[in-house]
Amino acid sequence: MNHTLLLFFSYLFTQSLFASGHNHTDHNINKNFGDYVYITTGNDMAQFSLEKHNKINDLELLESGSEISIMRVPAQFVNEAGHIAHESFNRCGGFMLHKSLKDAQVELESGASRSFAKNMVFDDYQINQEKTVTAMISLVNEENIIETIKKLSSYRNRYYQSKTGVKSQNWLFDTWKDLGKSRSDFSVKKWQHADWKQDSIVATLKGKTDDIIVIGGHADSVAGWLGRKIAKAPGADDNASGIATTTEIMRIIIESGYQPEKTLMFMAYAAEEVGLLGSREIAKEFKKTEKNVVGVLQLDMTNFNGSDLDIVLMKDFTNNGQNEFIGKIVDKYLPGVSWGYGRCGYACSDHASWNSQGFPASMPFEARKFEANSRIHTSRDTISRSGNSAEHAQKFAKMGVAFVIELDF
Ligand SMILES: [Zn+2]
Repeated sequence: MNHTLLLFFSYLFTQSLFASGHNHTDHNINKNFGDYVYITTGNDMAQFSLEKHNKINDLELLESGSEISIMRVPAQFVNEAGHIAHESFNRCGGFMLHKSLKDAQVELESGASRSFAKNMVFDDYQINQEKTVTAMISLVNEENIIETIKKLSSYRNRYYQSKTGVKSQNWLFDTWKDLGKSRSDFSVKKWQHADWKQDSIVATLKGKTDDIIVIGGHADSVAGWLGRKIAKAPGADDNASGIATTTEIMRIIIESGYQPEKTLMFMAYAAEEVGLLGSREIAKEFKKTEKNVVGVLQLDMTNFNGSDLDIVLMKDFTNNGQNEFIGKIVDKYLPGVSWGYGRCGYACSDHASWNSQGFPASMPFEARKFEANSRIHTSRDTISRSGNSAEHAQKFAKMGVAFVIELDF
């Protein structure tokens, strides 16, 4: 069934539910954020929502900048917004959720910070660690990636307010802790969020300096927009694949005994699918405490090979210099792997959280946006869609290892 038809039937379904008097308020968002919430979204998605989704919702466009708009929406619309972003714009996230109008206005006005993060040069981007990189990327083991994807997608869902979404993060915490147990310079913590149940997980390999390199992706998963707490959402590609890739990069760096110059931080963000909540809290805290983040690598969907390009670097809301650097890394270290540029729109994933705070981020993606895995956000986002392999994701693990070592030195 094509998307238009699917949207039409979903629309009828929602209408009939509303007509019969059911209440679809997401009680968790409602409890912590109020009946109405503020979102920032791309101008394209704001207009689309007003035109196509305002009949059953009470949406209000408050302000628009050159790229993004602020909308006041019912709390119950947040899940639907995620669905619209995915169905109509192929964005995994697609909006940021804010507690107050003021927070949304800060985001709208941080265009200066966004363009700073895009254009500023944060590192020398030299590629000169051939010996170390070549040895380390040969350690990438596809089986490890498969195993992590399978484990994470075995939870019913990893929704930010569900029990299984808490459990899956506890499993990841234990797994990461175990990976680094032999090293005294390694630590893992649960980053607790006051407004929802699921923790973000943050692992740190301490370097000699306070410069920080961040590698991560979102750990939560969703399916549909009704009953998300119990919906089956394996999220194998979106985004067990990115977490599995991050885990493999971390494993290799730790087990090889590599001692970084810069501090390496590995992150599995909570609550990306409901407005980039986890990553935004972390990025804001890093900005507030003046952490010197010199590079952020966002891994969100790495295991579905849908394009003639293997790695698509999103050009919008990311750092130009770092993107070029990653392209050169692929050319040098991943023979036969092709890459190119694409765009994914405002707030399509957690890199936008870092970019908005003035930090340099990149988002290498599995395919061109409209050739990406169409089964995400459904119960059918399983590893079988990728032929039960991690052939595609292992390219991202190699690229990630090379990125860390070359940026570190
Ligand atoms: Zn995602």
